[in-house]
Amino acid sequence: MSNRTANESAPGAEVPPAFDRTRFTCPSCHELADQVWLNVYAQPVSNPAGLPLRIAGAGLEQLQANPQFPPAIRDQKVAYWNRVNGGDVFLDRWAPVQTDLFVAGMELSVCLGCRATAVWLGGRLAHPRASG
Ligand SMILES: [Zn+2]
Repeated sequence: MSNRTANESAPGAEVPPAFDRTRFTCPSCHELADQVWLNVYAQPVSNPAGLPLRIAGAGLEQLQANPQFPPAIRDQKVAYWNRVNGGDVFLDRWAPVQTDLFVAGMELSVCLGCRATAVWLGGRLAHPRASG
């Protein structure tokens, strides 16, 4: 927990990501950039298996070869699942949902420079890791 006041006007100054800032050095692109904070809401997983959806391995190979989709769409879907399977966390537009399940203690910050999403748990940066 650092209490030091960062001089944000100094060019190249490092401003550590923090819960009480709207501008800090992005943990993804490592540039000083404005950040947008998002609250997180939840919706129960509702597929027949009752498990989070992941497409990997043989399923991903099937998707890659699925003639139902044009090649560009297939590539897009495969790239999406490769990102998810690789552990990336990012925003995606999906079907609208209505929920009153608020995820307390978890927030996201989105870098306006690179659009990367950071996950905060208990007011601490959880993803990406500082080493990244
Ligand atoms: Zn960034």
